[in-house]
Amino acid sequence: MEIFGRSRRQLAFAYALIMCLFLAVIIFVVHMAMNWSMFSEQAQELSDAAEGVAEVQMFYMQNPNAAVDENRYFKAANDRLFYYIFNADGQLIRFERASFRIEQFVMSVIEDWKIDEGEVEVFRHSNEIGQLNTVMMTSKKISADSGEQTIFVGKDVTALYSGLEKATYAQVFLGVVALLIASGIGYYMAGRTLIPIKEAYEKQKQFAADASHELRTPLAVVMASADLLLADPSIENPFLRQVLEDLKSEVKKMTDLVSDLLMVARSDNNALKVKIQRVDLTEILEQVVRMMKPIAEKKNILLLGEEYRTVFVNCDEQKIKQLVIILVDNAIKYTTSGGSVLVRFESADESKAVFSVADSGIGIAEEDLGKVFERFYRVDKARSREMGGNGLGLAIASEIVKLHDGKISVASQLGEGTKFTVELKTNLKK
Ligand code: ADP
Repeated sequence: MEIFGRSRRQLAFAYALIMCLFLAVIIFVVHMAMNWSMFSEQAQELSDAAEGVAEVQMFYMQNPNAAVDENRYFKAANDRLFYYIFNADGQLIRFERASFRIEQFVMSVIEDWKIDEGEVEVFRHSNEIGQLNTVMMTSKKISADSGEQTIFVGKDVTALYSGLEKATYAQVFLGVVALLIASGIGYYMAGRTLIPIKEAYEKQKQFAADASHELRTPLAVVMASADLLLADPSIENPFLRQVLEDLKSEVKKMTDLVSDLLMVARSDNNALKVKIQRVDLTEILEQVVRMMKPIAEKKNILLLGEEYRTVFVNCDEQKIKQLVIILVDNAIKYTTSGGSVLVRFESADESKAVFSVADSGIGIAEEDLGKVFERFYRVDKARSREMGGNGLGLAIASEIVKLHDGKISVASQLGEGTKFTVELKTNLKK
């Protein structure tokens, strides 16, 4: 059943969407957490190093005569770190170079330095050959009698950051794999969930088919019995005869409903068979117009069939006749006295034949147009019931059209009229 397939896909899709959001949030949070912990650890190291370099430098500023021991700076920093110390005039007085790969970039960062003292910042830059370099830097000011100096301490964290990037890509990749697996599981689970619902649905369809089938015989017996009683001359009492007539008319309504229900139930079970024959559509249309004329005249409605030319189509004669009857019957039902109903051919060629049933009746509001083919849908329930309708007519009509691989459409203007158009294949093969 299409409806189950669609529900299954919708359920699986909704599940996949939720999983996708969930995974995206997890990956984002993990990425941010890793980034944060890496940054804070490195920043701490950098700050400590800056502190160390500053201390050593301070010592030499206060003791200008002491012999400078570069190793003391080295110990304060370490080999992955670099530092540059400028005096108040902006002259570079002491340094441990950053690697050649990044030094130019580091110098440009120092030139544009706007970060507050003690703050740690990450700088990224791609060089001419597209390599992305990442450095983390901080600054510190120290002053002694000899003047103020600025220390820049930094660390090359390119490898760390590219490691983090790779880890994030790996997470995204794993996330996508997990999502695919979860979607497959979702689809499978949705299918399993739907099994009992499907079974219940099948049972209910079977019940409708069986019940309507079983009801036909007793109804036929009641009908025949009422006919028999009416034919009996010994029943003369007019009241009794009226009761019998009413009984017959109610049984007739019920028989119609039961046969409609049976038809719908069979179409659900794919048990509706079409007997395709080459028939003249003209004849069917003429027959129906002739048959329905008395009913139209009783309501003072003009029922017109156009002058038809012969058009042969491959179809199930009985079913197409039923379809035309439903449309003409509705047109008469929903048209007030003095109106008209026109059954006409729109066009016919080698591939398709199109005919329409148009009336000058009450029309259908736009919001109801899409629903009139649904089962038991009636725009005005009271009116429909009064006319003997049960809301199954158009549902059956569209089933019949579907069985013929055709199309049915409706156009309507409230208060002005309605037109149903049917398109059938002329060379249908089944
Ligand atoms: P019903 O047995 O109630 O006529 P149908 O399935 O045949 O059921 O039609 C569904 C509803 O569509 C009707 O109740 C009616 O409101 C509307 N309808 C169908 N045909 C026409 C028409 N020709 N003009 C106006 N309304 C219509």
